[in-house]
Amino acid sequence: MIDMNKQQIIECLELEHADDLFRQADKVRKQYCGEEVHLRGILEFSNHCCQDCHYCGLRRGNTKAMRYRMELDEIIHSAQKAIDLGITTVVLQSGEDEFYSIEQLCHIIQEIKKLNLAVTVSVGERSFEDFNRLKDAGADRYLLRFETSDEKLYATLRPGRCLKDRFECLYWLKKLDYQVGSGIMVGLPGQSLESIAQDILLFQDLDLDMIGIGPFLPHPNTPLAGSHNIGIDMILKVVALTRIVTKNAHIPATTAVGTLDTQGRQKALACGANIIMPNITPTEYRKFYEIYPDKICASEAASECRRCVEEMIITCARTVGIGPGHSLKKQSRASQTDFSF
Ligand code: SAH
Ligand code: SF4
Repeated sequence: MIDMNKQQIIECLELEHADDLFRQADKVRKQYCGEEVHLRGILEFSNHCCQDCHYCGLRRGNTKAMRYRMELDEIIHSAQKAIDLGITTVVLQSGEDEFYSIEQLCHIIQEIKKLNLAVTVSVGERSFEDFNRLKDAGADRYLLRFETSDEKLYATLRPGRCLKDRFECLYWLKKLDYQVGSGIMVGLPGQSLESIAQDILLFQDLDLDMIGIGPFLPHPNTPLAGSHNIGIDMILKVVALTRIVTKNAHIPATTAVGTLDTQGRQKALACGANIIMPNITPTEYRKFYEIYPDKICASEAASECRRCVEEMIITCARTVGIGPGHSLKKQSRASQTDFSF
């Protein structure tokens, strides 16, 4: 397959009717990833955050948010329950919450690893030393979206932070041999098609193992309240182009795309996505992890989310992934190394 350049990507993003693009992405997904849809159980263990991202309902400036933190045992217990649901990966996600020490995070990971689960960590920017310790404790993967590659936009949306530091974290994670996930929001105010095309090319350059693409959904208690929702087709075009360009990266049909459009996740699965993230956060906390409003699956039990995604996968004529669903890129990188010897 021929690589796409920025102009070609922009032209695809401008398409009014993108059915051919979606079909092509589905073909690439089939060829490189097969029919399996892997499940990642997301456990949102704290909604405290010391950052003030303009787009996010968990930002520290949102004084209306009801905050919670799960106890260490409660987190480990929730991960344990994932096993009964046939979930093989737990994604530990939170705001940037300094309450949990690095020792405590390592303890949680070590305990979950004893359960023979793959562990993804998504707790924001940390030092090289912290990333190293989390990896030593057994973390397999790390999820840190760069959000947008437009440096100026990034600096406006994340007060006090800069894109260079975000990329440095991604570089460290790669160096530490994590399976690295990153991604963007689409539809941020001031985001151009050119910058989205650049984001897609960066996904390829960074050789990411996982790429999360979701719509920006404006939250009423943030400075971006009242912004417009992006249309579903633009999200699907970004998902499809990402699949075509990166070939075998894991790409989730995100919860945000399912919130934007009731059929959003099914549509994403049909144009490149191969991952779903059922929510395994205890129901009592769900509604408080309000990164964006009206999030789907806010009141269902974990078992209900699991049942619902399985039904969705089967209806889309796909199969639930078996095993941990590790990075396909990592496997191809390893076999390339083998061949060179
Ligand atoms: N604190 C960590 C992880 C939690 S936020 C971090 O920031 O990396 C997880 C993701 O939620 C962010 O990376 C961002 O892409 C997404 N997000 C935040 N606010 C959002 C909004 N209003 N609409 C859609 N996605 C949002
Ligand atoms: Fe905090 Fe992450 Fe939300 Fe930013 S996006 S405010 S770092 S939870």
